[in-house]
Amino acid sequence: MSHKNLGIIGGGQLGSMLSVAAKKLNIKTTIYCDDKDAPAQNFCDEFIFGSYRDNEKILEFVKKVDVITYEFENIPFETLNEMNKLKTVLPKPSVNRLIQHRLAEKDFINKLNIRTTRYVSIEKKSDIETLEDFLPGILKTTTMGYDGKGQYPIKKIEDLNLINVDFSKGYILEKLVKLKKEISVIITRFSNNNYEIYEPIENTHEDQILKHSKIPAEISNKILEQSKEWAKQIAEELKYIGTLCVEFFIDRNENLYVNEIAPRVHNSGHLTINAYNVSQFENHVRAVCSFEKIPLKKLSNAKMINLIGNQIKEYRNNTNLNHNEFFFDYLKKEIKEKRKMGHITTLL
Ligand code: ADP
Ligand code: MG
Repeated sequence: MSHKNLGIIGGGQLGSMLSVAAKKLNIKTTIYCDDKDAPAQNFCDEFIFGSYRDNEKILEFVKKVDVITYEFENIPFETLNEMNKLKTVLPKPSVNRLIQHRLAEKDFINKLNIRTTRYVSIEKKSDIETLEDFLPGILKTTTMGYDGKGQYPIKKIEDLNLINVDFSKGYILEKLVKLKKEISVIITRFSNNNYEIYEPIENTHEDQILKHSKIPAEISNKILEQSKEWAKQIAEELKYIGTLCVEFFIDRNENLYVNEIAPRVHNSGHLTINAYNVSQFENHVRAVCSFEKIPLKKLSNAKMINLIGNQIKEYRNNTNLNHNEFFFDYLKKEIKEKRKMGHITTLL
């Protein structure tokens, strides 16, 4: 029987769900987060509040745990690297450094001969003026973006005068893909050529924020196989340990593109809690804590709806859920517009 203590950096809903999964495996969780209201403190065994640059606090955290993982990617590389000298950090810090930078991430994917959207590095406003080729496009900060934050749609050069972009940061400009569909593939890798892959999940976004996910995805067999193969190839190349998600675009001509990689559990995989024998969260904990791999079995088709901002309210008082509906409240202190507050999974 294991009595490990798993350190998790980040205290949002993903940290909560990782903690719940760890408990089931008899693993204690200690969460480190720079938000004193972090919702995951309701679910973990111990919570430490501190900045990601506070070396003393971080050392206190590192001493308590046996192995360290993280639930979001925007952690300073130096912080992860220093931690890794004392306790193993998984996925390893170099993976996080690569993926947290949109340019490095896309260069890496292209080197594997995997298609991404067309993109170009932008350092100053005038760079865009010669790049009509990439329009209509989306200008994105190279680091720190999530849920569409730090993104600016640009249809034509003149649009640049209408938006207020801080060019002291780095950007990439991505050509807009004429989307038919978005899917994601979640994979948990345990060691060399030793992994489990969940079937592709079909995702719908509203305002660049995930709204619906469902399995099965309505896609061709070719896309299904290709997306799983690419996810596997990416995880192997990174020598990744843990759960990883690859987000894909499918365009109107049935071309598949990798949009981005998340070096962590992913919102689109929440339905795996109810629809599979082992969830993406449990699998992540299993992989980083060196448990045996269990063959994945799908138990049911499913769909998930994110409850964003005020949408959580009506469900908090709803005692009328059907037996196939599962409501999750992230217990965030404050309801904010565009903030993910909870979700509902329905088994189909
Ligand atoms: P985030 O890090 O915020 O998830 P993404 O790059 O995944 O950023 O963008 C969020 C969403 O915005 C995507 O899931 C997609 O719906 C839309 N989007 C982003 N880039 C493109 C693109 N190049 N073409 C078409 N849609 C895009
Ligand atoms: Mg995304």
